[in-house]
Amino acid sequence: MDGMNIVGDLFGSGKMFLPQVVKSARVMKQAVAYLTPYMETERAAGDRASAVNGKILLATVKGDVHDIGKNIVGVVLQCNSYDVVDLGVMVSADRILATAREENVDMIGVSGLITPSLDEMVGLAHEMRRQQFNIPLLIGGATTSRLHTAVKIAPNYDAPVIHVNDASKAVGVMSNLLSEKVRDEFVASIKSEYENARETHAGSGRQSKRQTLAGARANKATMDWSDYRAPVPSFLGTRVFEDYDLEELRNFIDWTPFFRTWELAGKFPNILQDDIVGEAARDLYGDAQEMLDWIVTDKWLTPRAVVGFWPANAVGDDIMLYRDEYRHMPLSSIHMLRQQMVRGNNARPNFGLSDFVAPADSGARDYFGGFVVTAGAEIDAIAARYEKDNDDYNEILVKALADRLAEAFAERMHQRVRTELWGYAPEEDLSNEALIAGEYQGIRPAPGYPACPDHTEKMTLFDILDAEAATGVSLTESCAMWPPPSVAGFYFSHPEARYFGVGRIERDQVEDYARRKGIDVETVERWLAPNLNYNPDDYTDRDAAAKLATHSHKPALLDTSVIV
Ligand code: SAH
Repeated sequence: MDGMNIVGDLFGSGKMFLPQVVKSARVMKQAVAYLTPYMETERAAGDRASAVNGKILLATVKGDVHDIGKNIVGVVLQCNSYDVVDLGVMVSADRILATAREENVDMIGVSGLITPSLDEMVGLAHEMRRQQFNIPLLIGGATTSRLHTAVKIAPNYDAPVIHVNDASKAVGVMSNLLSEKVRDEFVASIKSEYENARETHAGSGRQSKRQTLAGARANKATMDWSDYRAPVPSFLGTRVFEDYDLEELRNFIDWTPFFRTWELAGKFPNILQDDIVGEAARDLYGDAQEMLDWIVTDKWLTPRAVVGFWPANAVGDDIMLYRDEYRHMPLSSIHMLRQQMVRGNNARPNFGLSDFVAPADSGARDYFGGFVVTAGAEIDAIAARYEKDNDDYNEILVKALADRLAEAFAERMHQRVRTELWGYAPEEDLSNEALIAGEYQGIRPAPGYPACPDHTEKMTLFDILDAEAATGVSLTESCAMWPPPSVAGFYFSHPEARYFGVGRIERDQVEDYARRKGIDVETVERWLAPNLNYNPDDYTDRDAAAKLATHSHKPALLDTSVIV
């Protein structure tokens, strides 16, 4: 325990790095596990229990499956003698609050990676007020932010709600909150900081001018469809890839995000020679290579993929997929959103992804693709084994590597799509660096990401790919993919296809979009909450709007309401 205090201090002062801390924690945890029976005997004999600084409940919110960051926070807190009750992933607000009562914790920390999780956190804060909790709520995870915490979460709860940027900040926040001496001052300073953030935000909101959906459409990106014609893919419909070669995928790994997961900043491979983090990065990389050897030779994972191509044309802002080349029978519609920001004199187009598919009235036969890949469902059991052994280091390592393999799989399949399966760039020959930099023709935007921020379009994608049967990947109620090391996306072949952010949209588009999807406006507003340029509560005609949407009880799956 004394040793861990030194590790904690060195980490806090930037002289030790996360992988080393987590490895040290493993020594401590395994030693503690060995000693626990003896300590309990002593405790029963009346000895004083070892001092614990405080107790926190950690969970990844309902609908979300990502837990690497949360697990890191848990380890770092345990290193600093905090008691951690970790409820794992996909945990409902009810379970979080019931356990918080039972375990009598000092605070709750929740994590989430995808945008629908933000709404879960708002709901949790609300529920904490309703159930008259008064312990602090800590917010963390990739989509969370100080601004969102201040503007959307904190106003729902009276006790402190604090955004924790990364694992290294968690100890400071927790110790401040538990220290009688600094607590009041700390809470007051966060409160005024968040108050300022809310005011600045309210002020800037009025300036974020948007144009009408009609105006944005008039300024869409136009392509010359006589200039570019996508070739016919080598197959139409879907193809399943079972038990993909791990050795092949290994070569396509992008290592930079791997180091970022471990809070080591820098670009691979230079990071290995970095003056400050180089040694920690080299050790970590060595451990990663060794584990990859086991993963590949002992076949720990079974990567699976499904890829599909369909005849397609743009119909308005949607992409219509057809059952066959006659293009009479719609298979499904992929609903896309369009930028509504005003830039200069509309000098730049207001992009929507449908701009990169030939419109139905252009006469051009275009195609569109989609995919789901996973590194393998075995990851869950492998990670659980390490967890049981009190080996957080290898648990986090194997999960991070599975994530890397899933991204590598997406990269490799995309390359095969361009050169062979769709075959629109057969001569392409790019290095791994060039692939990572995206120096190829076409894009593979992921639903839930900035160009197509609606996660529910994954339901359509999974449906037309029959992805669950093909790959074993399923969607949670927030449209997160299970198992976590999975990637999904759409394929666009057009040379001018590019990534962009839809940004904030207005109510006219939300209404139009709800109509196109056949769901009610309120549901769209819930899924697209981070993208709204207005406050839904300002609209009093919600019931009327809900009635306007024709099939309000139809799930957001197949929409055949738009017929060419
Ligand atoms: N090399 C990275 C993986 C790619 S990240 C890694 O190993 O982690 C880039 C991916 O994110 C893209 O391929 C695309 O699927 C998605 N993406 C990035 N920007 C996007 C945007 N604006 N809209 C939609 N998807 C986007």
